[in-house]
Amino acid sequence: AELTKRPYYKDLVDVRESVFKIQSWRENQLETICSVMDGYDTFNLMPTGGGKSLTFQLPAVVMNRLKKQITIVISPLIALMVDQQRSLEERGVNTIILNSESTQHHASLLHSHGSRPALVYVSPEKIITSSWLQRTLLELYNQDRLFMLAVDEAHTITSWGNTFRETLSELCWLRENLPNTPIMALTATATVQHREEIINTLCISRCKMFTMSLNRPNLNYVVKRKSDRNGLIKDIAEFIQSKHMGQTGIIYRQSRKDCEDLATILTEAWGIHAQAFHAKLEPEEKKRVQAMWQRGEIKVVVATIAFGMGVDKKDVRFVIHYALPGSMSEYYQETGRAGRDGNPSDCILYYQYSDAQWLMKCAFQDGKNELASKQLRADARRVVEYCLNNTDCRRTQTLSYFSQEFPREMCKGQCDNCRDKSPINWEDVSYEAYDFIRLAEEVHASRQDATRIMLIDTFLGKTGESVKNKRFDQLKSFGVRRGTNRGRAERLFDELTCKQVFEPHYVSNNNTHKKQLTEYFLVCAMRSLVCSLYRD
Ligand code: ADP
Ligand code: ZN
Repeated sequence: AELTKRPYYKDLVDVRESVFKIQSWRENQLETICSVMDGYDTFNLMPTGGGKSLTFQLPAVVMNRLKKQITIVISPLIALMVDQQRSLEERGVNTIILNSESTQHHASLLHSHGSRPALVYVSPEKIITSSWLQRTLLELYNQDRLFMLAVDEAHTITSWGNTFRETLSELCWLRENLPNTPIMALTATATVQHREEIINTLCISRCKMFTMSLNRPNLNYVVKRKSDRNGLIKDIAEFIQSKHMGQTGIIYRQSRKDCEDLATILTEAWGIHAQAFHAKLEPEEKKRVQAMWQRGEIKVVVATIAFGMGVDKKDVRFVIHYALPGSMSEYYQETGRAGRDGNPSDCILYYQYSDAQWLMKCAFQDGKNELASKQLRADARRVVEYCLNNTDCRRTQTLSYFSQEFPREMCKGQCDNCRDKSPINWEDVSYEAYDFIRLAEEVHASRQDATRIMLIDTFLGKTGESVKNKRFDQLKSFGVRRGTNRGRAERLFDELTCKQVFEPHYVSNNNTHKKQLTEYFLVCAMRSLVCSLYRD
């Protein structure tokens, strides 16, 4: 109520209605807008589709009208800038983009009294590395023509660190040299740790913090076990045909070849016109596919993760993960591209153990420092845990990653686990777990490498060829749980790996020229009794 008494409130409503054609505020929009209008640094965490753009575009337009001021928007993606520029220009809002190709000459645009842009989009590297841009900002500041700095998709700051690590500290330059210009950081994905990183990097420790639930109520989450390749493709094709024929969707796969293969099969065998998209496409071709998809001329895209970020397409009805995402954060972002218009949309994640292994392998690849590798492994484990957990609400699981609580009742059956009405059997599996650990210890002591299959075979007392070759059938623990159902043994094993009781280590085998990866297991002390629950 108090916010509506602000002296500028009438101007806000005026511009909201006349320029943006929007009739009312959504959660936290007025709050965050008033916060920057009052001059505070502001952290704005809002889910995708929540209406973040309005919270910096609207005050930018108002202050441009009132005081001819400029808002600088730092945005990590050209596609995103172009998109926003287009829609702003359509509304008659003067906007400029300064990217890596822009030169000093472009700075004159900021000074020209003829145009007076309301928003100026710049890339992070430009703001960090360009001294003329920094000089220009100082000049604007001294002339009282700088209103605000908005950092869009602020969670990407944590990854800028990899590209411009040395210079990232330069961002504090903004806060130090432009002390009266509010900085707004916007993101739809940030763990508590990420939030701290963003705040530290931008030096906005005294910012006002606005957060809201990251829940996306219109998304339906499902995890499915992968069957064999043909069965899986059939499953995907039939799902699209029965629920989403002719609608827009994204299927994520790991490699270029995977994308091309699946796009071809869907098109030729199933009559679902699909287009591959990956990093190796020519830049022109990439642009073309992205534009056609945005216009709705291509409906289904089979893509590597490079696709979709910053593309503002509202009617994406399904996002399918054919391969595991690298982290829960990635998963949230990628599924978040579905249903931005608020209509029901489906998110399906297909899982099998070897995909988890593949992720782990990536985390162990050469050239990664120990800390990064550890983080990647922890992220991968979290994803696997999510896949294995067939009892807790998917939303509760995902949002807990962002330290948000989500009561199961609020899901209203919009995820596979909440819909599943079969009884949950809590079981104490400590003794089985203990046997498995003893077995792994013996294997480790025998100084032999063992794969997951070999360990499970040994656990179940199955004498496969490699079990015999490695003499695992001579171990005391061989067959310790003979008669246990294999699926159960597999789940127990995976659970123990997730809980870091087993730690897979990947070593390259130099005897063969192919870089073959084998694994063996170090056994940590069991940290707690494993009381696990399984639902069949
Ligand atoms: P985000 O960047 O948070 O994902 P956008 O800023 O792209 O979300 O907004 C998503 C959609 O919601 C856009 O189509 C936008 O026009 C619309 N929108 C934003 N605020 C409002 C509002 N207060 N009322 C109605 N529609 C809104
Ligand atoms: Zn649920």
